[in-house]
Amino acid sequence: MPETNNRSKLMFNIILFGPPGSGKGTQSEKLIEKYGLKHLSTGDLLRTEIAAQTPLGIEAKAIMDKGILVPDDVVVGMIKNALEKNKGVNGFLFDGFPRTEAQAIALDNLLQENNTEIGVVLALEVSEEELIKRLLNRGLTSGRSDDTNEAVIKARIEEYHKKTTVVADHYNKSAKVLHVKGEGSVEEIFAALSAAIDERKK
Ligand code: ADP
Repeated sequence: MPETNNRSKLMFNIILFGPPGSGKGTQSEKLIEKYGLKHLSTGDLLRTEIAAQTPLGIEAKAIMDKGILVPDDVVVGMIKNALEKNKGVNGFLFDGFPRTEAQAIALDNLLQENNTEIGVVLALEVSEEELIKRLLNRGLTSGRSDDTNEAVIKARIEEYHKKTTVVADHYNKSAKVLHVKGEGSVEEIFAALSAAIDERKK
């Protein structure tokens, strides 16, 4: 239907990018409210499966507790379902996805099938020392088993360097990446992210 096509052309989709502990979850909550976006966090989707003790959740938990990535087809399948269930939104905010080049390619294809694309990739920059501090601190209250053990936290950061930083290179080819300092107050970082979005949305 042409009407649907016109609507999806107007969508503005964002990837919030950065290492574990860089503040993606906190900033996502604020950004979806300000810009009326649908939040899609693969980490949250996986934790919902874990809480429901589905076969996928049970399999994913064992992997997540080691600090490594779950298979691409699992997360791509979850994102595909979520895109189908949320037709007609203003746009999506992807948080913790894509995390590998294969996931980025799959996402680009899924968005293209829906006649839309990524508008901007916002890359949060935080020092490694600060990341470890924040994650250990989050582990005191988050109830997340992957936040309580320093070795697992380090494995997650290593996995990020090994497999995820290439996602920024992928989107840099089309000049979609904007770097934002992820240290400072939540409000300062939110203001910097909002300014970057407003610049790209013009
Ligand atoms: P954080 O960014 O703090 O590590 P997330 O909730 O995004 O928190 O991810 C927690 C874990 O869930 C990851 O360590 C990984 O095992 C799994 N995970 C989340 N998103 C993905 C993804 N896109 N691809 C593969 N694994 C993922």
